[in-house]
Amino acid sequence: MSSNQSLSKRDLSVLWHPCTQMKDHENFPIIPIKKGRGIWLEDFDGNRYLDAISSWWVNLFGHANPYINAALKDQLDTLEHVIFAGFTHEAAVELAEKLVEITPEGLNRCFYADNGSAAVEVALKMSFHYWRNLGQTQKKQFITLENSYHGETLGALAVGNVPLYKETYAPLLMDVITVPGPDCYHREPGESWADYSTRRFALMEQALQQHSDTVCAVIIEPLVQCAGNMRMYDPVYLTLLRAACDKYNVHLIADEVAVGFGRSGTLFACEQAAISPDFICLSKGLTGGYLPLSAVVTTDQMYQAFYADYQNMSAFLHSHSYTGNALACRAGLATLEIFQQHNIIEKNRSLAEMMTKVAARFHDHPHVAEVRQTGMILAIEMVKNKHSREPYPWQERRGLRVYQYALSKGVLLRPLGNVVYFMPPYIVTEDQLLLIAEVAWQGIQQAVKD
Ligand SMILES: *Cc1c(COP(=O)(O)O)cnc(C)c1O
Repeated sequence: MSSNQSLSKRDLSVLWHPCTQMKDHENFPIIPIKKGRGIWLEDFDGNRYLDAISSWWVNLFGHANPYINAALKDQLDTLEHVIFAGFTHEAAVELAEKLVEITPEGLNRCFYADNGSAAVEVALKMSFHYWRNLGQTQKKQFITLENSYHGETLGALAVGNVPLYKETYAPLLMDVITVPGPDCYHREPGESWADYSTRRFALMEQALQQHSDTVCAVIIEPLVQCAGNMRMYDPVYLTLLRAACDKYNVHLIADEVAVGFGRSGTLFACEQAAISPDFICLSKGLTGGYLPLSAVVTTDQMYQAFYADYQNMSAFLHSHSYTGNALACRAGLATLEIFQQHNIIEKNRSLAEMMTKVAARFHDHPHVAEVRQTGMILAIEMVKNKHSREPYPWQERRGLRVYQYALSKGVLLRPLGNVVYFMPPYIVTEDQLLLIAEVAWQGIQQAVKD
């Protein structure tokens, strides 16, 4: 029989884990999970962990969700996968119909890929290729925001801006135009989110004015830069950006891989600015956290620019082996059915209020510079000096201490640097939120010692 110890030992002799300095595991055990049920994960020694970060932001309705399980079991006996060029299947068609229906107006063409980074690559290539098909070959650059994150493949990494992930590979990456962002952590005391975001938009407008001739698209994470330490900004920035992209004839790519499917408080974050991007990239929550799948939903106009006789050589010849995987599509459908049948967006409003309530005490913590929230994402900025906002040196890895303390208390929190955040599945209860907050509080107390 496997135990935590026996499985970790076997793991560490053959595996290489994502986003991990493997040598850390000389000191910190890796945790083998035996099963998941609802918000709980259980390891091989019988310890339980409350999944307060939705297993890297993907899980929406709990582990081993009975409704999604049943849909998948049915799909498994029908069709697991089929080549998606020249062939199609019911789950892919139905999911695309639903996505077209629920995404912002004008987005009515769905292209599948199998993870968030791949969706970003698809959107970048499609945007570039669109302009090329129109004869505008001088358009070959992208505008991106400071502190943005769009994934780890080379194209996605190039349009991202988190130095921790990007710097090493910089020599391999295409050049992009990086604009200072609207991150409201940097607003002046007393300045509103809307005022700061509006003020910062001037820099984006400038970049567009200067470079629009050579720029294909602006790519942005609507409302929350999640991997960039959960930094947030006001919807007005998106409204202004949509208008400016129209004015300067540049596409707008909304990367809602993390904030889509209710995370921001609305089904899609773009709704809060009442805008439609030219591309929306979706993944993570798309399958409820079950299977890798992503979708890029775009406009008829985009689609038509590729639609021509074969000899024109204007088709989008991008593919992945598992494009439109039937099991993943079915999990996506079941997930969207849960949203509909259980009025999730409305219910999440009271959950988000509970999150605000349980985190209220952190505002006055002597080592917390800011508590911020957008919908179902709440972040606590832990700092060395509350007044000057001087951060702890990254080498001290204070966030890691919170992580380890929380695990010892049965809660999975995984701070980004020194930012502790709650991003629970939508099935979280008030008692569980209270537990998360209490453990985070105690964890921060431990982490700021000495
Ligand atoms: C996670 C993430 C990605 C990358 O998705 P993967 O599935 O991890 O490749 C892209 N964009 C944003 C905003 C993300 O949060």
